[in-house]
Amino acid sequence: MAKPTPVIPPKTYLWCDHCRRSYAHADLVAGACPVCQSPVREMGKVSAILRGLMANELVAGGIGTKHRQLVRLTWTRNGMGERYYKALQPGIPYTKFEARVTDLLCQGAEAGWVRFVFPPAPSADDSAYRVEFDSDERFVAELERLFTPDPPA
Ligand SMILES: [Zn+2]
Repeated sequence: MAKPTPVIPPKTYLWCDHCRRSYAHADLVAGACPVCQSPVREMGKVSAILRGLMANELVAGGIGTKHRQLVRLTWTRNGMGERYYKALQPGIPYTKFEARVTDLLCQGAEAGWVRFVFPPAPSADDSAYRVEFDSDERFVAELERLFTPDPPA
């Protein structure tokens, strides 16, 4: 006789207080947050969405804020944000990490060594949105400078 399979409520999400974002059940690693390994709490879809909204941009903003969000969505797409986070292990919550890298990239774009490539009209193809660097080494060096503690004097 087949054992009953454990029932996972399909309409709930798992909220990580540390990362301040929700995950699907399938995202979990060993029952914990896949990014920071903290315990997660189960919550309904609407709660998860509302919490996500509150965690993201509490500041009401104009087009400049939306532009910044687009920058953030572009560099973090395809799970890249989490991959950088895991590689750098910056010791700050994921959302703060995202904000700091987004700031870095916005400064880089202003200075000219970072370019954001967007399609001429909104596209369903995520790969049409991308970030390019004059030199990858520059980006790596800036990231390391941002997240590596200064050696003791
Ligand atoms: Zn987490």
